[in-house]
Amino acid sequence: MTDSYCLVSKMLFAKYNGNVPATASAWWKDLNSQCYGGQHGAWFDTGLLRRLGEGDSVLFWKDVWIGEEPLRDRYDALYCASAQQDNLVRDCGTWVAGEWNWEFNWNRFLSRQEEDLLVNLRIVVSAFSPSRGRADYWAWSNEVSGSYTVKSAYDVLHKQVQPVEGGIFKDLWAVRAPSNALALAWRAILGRIPTRDNLRQRNVLTETSDLSCPFCLHSIESIPHLFFSCNLSWRVWMFMYNWCGVSSVLPQDYAANFMQFLQGYGNQRWRQGAWAIWIAAINVIWYSRNALVFKDEEVNIQKVLDLIQLKSWSWLKAKIKGFSYTLFEWQSHPMLCLEVI
Ligand SMILES: [Zn+2]
Repeated sequence: MTDSYCLVSKMLFAKYNGNVPATASAWWKDLNSQCYGGQHGAWFDTGLLRRLGEGDSVLFWKDVWIGEEPLRDRYDALYCASAQQDNLVRDCGTWVAGEWNWEFNWNRFLSRQEEDLLVNLRIVVSAFSPSRGRADYWAWSNEVSGSYTVKSAYDVLHKQVQPVEGGIFKDLWAVRAPSNALALAWRAILGRIPTRDNLRQRNVLTETSDLSCPFCLHSIESIPHLFFSCNLSWRVWMFMYNWCGVSSVLPQDYAANFMQFLQGYGNQRWRQGAWAIWIAAINVIWYSRNALVFKDEEVNIQKVLDLIQLKSWSWLKAKIKGFSYTLFEWQSHPMLCLEVI
């Protein structure tokens, strides 16, 4: 018997002492029949997610704790090769200098296809890490707060809930960048990069800690600020827009930002190119920030721009057949290389 089953039982039991009478509201009757009977009876269970605390009671492969299905179902081939099939989340990685590192062991060598899947899995799990000192808990997946409400339960019966990884994830995944670069971009989209405001929210930084942006020392360091609206990042994006010949007013909302960046042209190669540039920019900005914070290395904007061009060029060269342009050509005429003009 699962915990979720117990939870539903408790709710029904608390309301009707275990028996749902004929006079009960349609809602409760529906809940009762949906939870305990029929083909669709799993809707309540599937709305319940295991949320990660220490990771000491969540099974990495078998529990639903990312997206809407167990990782075992989604990464079937990897699961079969895994030497950690029954492992808890906390046994699938280690803490190194305060950062969680996922570590996977296999019973055999992975095929090329499985290696590709593994890159995908690594990106997906990169947005998650166990939290020390916090127990795992059950959450209702259809409310942002994770709390169960009647409305959210109703909604799940009537519409398909968007999975965590939608079209954006697919686009991102199509860029053949290294998995750590993709993972960082994915975490930026999900709002899960350890900027100072995020660290404060997680109580890693205290009330008296300096939360200011290391680039401008002026605003609080958040993902939208650090990557988009800070003066330095803003200059980076303006350069990118000009370089690609796109004139644009940059919205501060980073989600709108990259969508806008991508929307200009319908060409598929352009989309890949735009994503490569976007992912490179996010990575170079973040690594420049870390070099400044941890090594006291001053940020050189020209170096930032050069690196973004170099990285995006090398990824596109690896990904797109017939993309045989030199770095110089890429730097001079990116749109020509992407066959937009
Ligand atoms: Zn700033």
